[in-house]
Amino acid sequence: MSLQIAQAAVDDATIHFDKLYSYCIPPRLVGRVWPGSMVLVPFGRGNKPRMAVVLSVEECPEGADAQKLKTLYDATPAEARLTPDLLELVHFLKERTFCTWFEAVKAVIPYGAQYRAAKEQGRPVMQSRLSRSTERLYTLAGELPEKPKPGPRQLAAMEALSTGPKTARQLDEAGISKATLDTLCKKGVITAAEQDKSLDLFADIPFDPQPLTLSPEQQKAFAALLPNLEDDKPHAALLHGVTGSGKTVVFLKLIERTLELSRRALVLVPEISLTPQMIRRLKSTFGSRLAVQHSALNNTERLLQWRMIQQGNADIVVGTRSAVFSPLQNLGLIIVDEEQEHTYQSESAPRYDAHDIAKKRAVMENALLLFASATPLTETYHAAQSGKLKLVTLTHRYGGCPLPSVDFIDMRAELTAGNPREVSRRLARELQENLDNGEQSILLLNRRGYRTIGMCADCGHVLKCPNCSVPLVYHKPQQALMCHHCGHTVHPLPILCPECGGKINYSGFGTQRVEEELAELLPNARILRMDQDSTGKKNAHETMLAQFARHEYDILLGTQMVAKGLDFEKVTLVGVLGIDSLLFGQGFRAYESVFSLVTQVIGRGGRAALPGRALIQTAVPDHPILQLAAAQDYEAYYREEITFRKFGLYPPFCAFCVIGFVGAQEGAVFLAAQRFGALLAERAARNPGLPLRILGPAPMNITMLNGKFRYKLTLKCRNDAAFRALLRETLDAYAKEKLPQKASVIVDFNSDGDL
Ligand code: ADP
Ligand code: ZN
Repeated sequence: MSLQIAQAAVDDATIHFDKLYSYCIPPRLVGRVWPGSMVLVPFGRGNKPRMAVVLSVEECPEGADAQKLKTLYDATPAEARLTPDLLELVHFLKERTFCTWFEAVKAVIPYGAQYRAAKEQGRPVMQSRLSRSTERLYTLAGELPEKPKPGPRQLAAMEALSTGPKTARQLDEAGISKATLDTLCKKGVITAAEQDKSLDLFADIPFDPQPLTLSPEQQKAFAALLPNLEDDKPHAALLHGVTGSGKTVVFLKLIERTLELSRRALVLVPEISLTPQMIRRLKSTFGSRLAVQHSALNNTERLLQWRMIQQGNADIVVGTRSAVFSPLQNLGLIIVDEEQEHTYQSESAPRYDAHDIAKKRAVMENALLLFASATPLTETYHAAQSGKLKLVTLTHRYGGCPLPSVDFIDMRAELTAGNPREVSRRLARELQENLDNGEQSILLLNRRGYRTIGMCADCGHVLKCPNCSVPLVYHKPQQALMCHHCGHTVHPLPILCPECGGKINYSGFGTQRVEEELAELLPNARILRMDQDSTGKKNAHETMLAQFARHEYDILLGTQMVAKGLDFEKVTLVGVLGIDSLLFGQGFRAYESVFSLVTQVIGRGGRAALPGRALIQTAVPDHPILQLAAAQDYEAYYREEITFRKFGLYPPFCAFCVIGFVGAQEGAVFLAAQRFGALLAERAARNPGLPLRILGPAPMNITMLNGKFRYKLTLKCRNDAAFRALLRETLDAYAKEKLPQKASVIVDFNSDGDL
C-alpha cells in the first residue's frame, strides 16, 4: 500500500499564519484518518504535540520524498470526525469570517466534543474530554425460577423492570442494590448492557399536547409558508408579527408539519433566558425527542445532547447562536426567533452571523428558513420588501387584545419637582395600583450594578478601570467597584479622590439601586431582580422566570433579558427606565436597537385578558424614535430608518466591515492600522471596479481594553468573493511588513461601527 499523507491545520494559529501542514499517516492509523478527523501532530522544533484538524488525505505522489515529513501522533476514532456537512461549514466560516481553520472547528463542535492531548506510557495520545459517558441499562430477559425461593429484593427488582428497561441509577434510587442485580444477571433472567448516558434535561416537563386552533390570520400565515416547507427546495421567509400575535403558535404548527414529513427542525432563540420557555412549549407539544444547545449547559450535558443530535435521536433542537451548527441531519425547518437581536452575531473569532450560517444550511438541506420578529432588522425587512425573502405578516394580537397604551414621563420635570429618584412618582403610583389589583409589572433598566459612575466632587476625576478606558461601576453587595469589561475589582469602596483627596460622589442608576428604591417606595411588593449578577447560578433564569410566572413576585426588574419573548398573562404594566443613554449611543444601529428594545418590552404587557399599559421615562419625550416606538409603528420607523441608511451609506446599501488593530503600544497600533489602510488602498486602486471606502484609522470607542490599545479602520464595501480575496491579499502583505511593532488584526463584517 502506498503511503498516505494528511494535510492538517493546527490549533493556535493566527489569521496571518494559518497554513496547512503535511504529515505521514502511520500504518496503525490508516483507515482512521479522514478529512474532518481531529489529530495530534508533532509541531515546531521540539515536536510538541498540538491538536489539528485534517482537511484532506492524499496518496503520497510517486518519487516524492516522504522521509522529510513528520508522522501523526494520534487520531480520534473515525466516527468522531466532522461529518462532510460540518466540514463544509468549517470551510464556509473560514472563507467568510477570516478566522483560522481551528477556530472554525471549535465553533462548529462544542468544546466537550473535542479531545485533548495527553500522555500514555510516554507517548502523546488524544483523550476524549468526556469521561463516564455510558451507563448500565438492565432489561428483563426471562422469569425467576420458583426454586430456590426468590427473596423479596429479587422480586422487587423483577417488579421494577416489568415496566421496561431501567438504568442502574434509577434502580438504585428505587432501593435495588447492584448485588441483587448481579445475582439476577447470573441467573440469566435479566441482562445488562452499557449504553450512552441519555440525559433527559427536561424530565419534569410533562408531555401534554393541547389542540391548537389557529386564528384566521395565523392560519393565513401558516398556509402561506406551508408550500415552502413541503417542497424540496431552499426557501427563506420573514414572519413579521406584532408582539403577542402568536408567532410561536405558527412555529409549533410548522414544526408539527416538518415532523410529519420525517424531517427535523432547528429553533434558534437569542438568549439563554428564552430557552426554558421555548423548551417547555416544544416538549409539552412534541415529547422528548428534543435536544438543547447553549452555553449554560455543563460540558457533559452539552456533549451528551450533542451526541443525541448527531446519532439522530433528536427531531427538534432549541438553542442560542452556536446551536446553528447542531449536527441535525435531514433538516426541514430553521427558525430564527427575535431575529433582530445582536446576540446572533458572534463577538469573538469566528465572527459569524447566525443568519448567514442558517441561510447556508437551508440551502444545503433544501430547508425553509424562517426569520421572525415584531421588529426585524432593517436589512431583513428590506430583503423582504425587495422580494428576496417571502414576507408573511401578523398584524393583530391573538384574541383581539389591544397593544398596550403608552405614556411618557418627562424626567426633567421630575427633577424640577424635587424627586431625585430614578423611579418617577407616577411610575411608583401605578406600580402600587398594580400591586393592589393583584397584577404584575415588568421594569426594564439596561444597566447593572448600583451606581454607574464615581466622580470627584472637587476635581471632576472619574474613577476608571486601570486596564480599560471605561468608568468603574459600584456594586453594593460586594461594596466594590467593578469593571464590566475585564472584571477588575477595587475594594474597599474609594471614599476619597486618588488625585486630589476630594470626596467621591457616586451617581447614575443601576438595577441594584432601583431595586432598593422600589423596596423603599413599595415595601409590600415582592421584587425580583434579573441581571447578569443575579443569574450566575445554573438554571437561574429558568427558576426565576418560573417563580415570576407563579406570581411569587409582583415586579420583575431587569436588563434587556426581561425585554423580549417573555409571555406572562398577569403583566399589565411595563416601565422603561434609563433608555436615553442608548438613544445617544454610537454606531449606526443605535436607533434601530432603541426602537426594537422599547417596542419589545412594551409588548410584554397586556398579552391576555387584562389590558396593558407602558410608561417610558426619558428626558427627551419628543424624540422621534421614542415616539415611533410608543406608537409601535414598525412601518413608519422603517421608512425613516431606510432613508437614513441610504443617505448615510450603511447596510443594506453597502457591507460594513470593521478592521480592528490591537496591541500594547498606542503609537505602534496606530501606525499598524495606518499601514494596513495604505496596503489595502494600493490593492483597491488596481481594481477600480471594486466599490470601497476606507475610513480611519480612528481609536475604538473603548480605546483601551484589558490593557491593550485598540484602533480601527472602517470599510464600506461589497462583501463578495472578489473583495474578500483582496482583503486576504492585504492580510498576507501586512504579515510580511516590517513594522516597529505588529498589532494583531481582527476582521468583523457584523459590527455596527465598533468592536
Ligand atoms: P408572539 O411570539 O408573537 O409575541 P406568542 O406566540 O407568545 O406571541 O402568543 C401570545 C399569547 O397568545 C401566548 O400566550 C399564546 O399561547 C397565545 N396564543 C396565540 N395564538 C394562539 C392560538 N391560536 N390558540 C391559543 N392561544 C394562542
Ligand atoms: Zn477593565
